[in-house]
Amino acid sequence: MDCLICKDLERVLESKRSKYIAARSAAYYRVSTELAASNNVDMECAKSDLEEHQLVCSSAAEARLSGPRAAMAPPTRQKLNEKN
Ligand SMILES: [Zn+2]
Repeated sequence: MDCLICKDLERVLESKRSKYIAARSAAYYRVSTELAASNNVDMECAKSDLEEHQLVCSSAAEARLSGPRAAMAPPTRQKLNEKN
């Protein structure tokens, strides 16, 4: 996948996630509970930003199309017919 926006959003999500995990691991300090909660919200926002972009992103769409559906493409069916 070479979409810069995807890469950027993924990088943001990763950094939010690691901040959240770090805050959560320190959650036994009372003061960090709120911080962990707000980091969780940040992470969820970054995740939905990425998902929203992937709905309209052509390189994410190409990645989806190269899945099982690609096996149903006309050239493959023609080859099967020739064998019969
Ligand atoms: Zn993209």
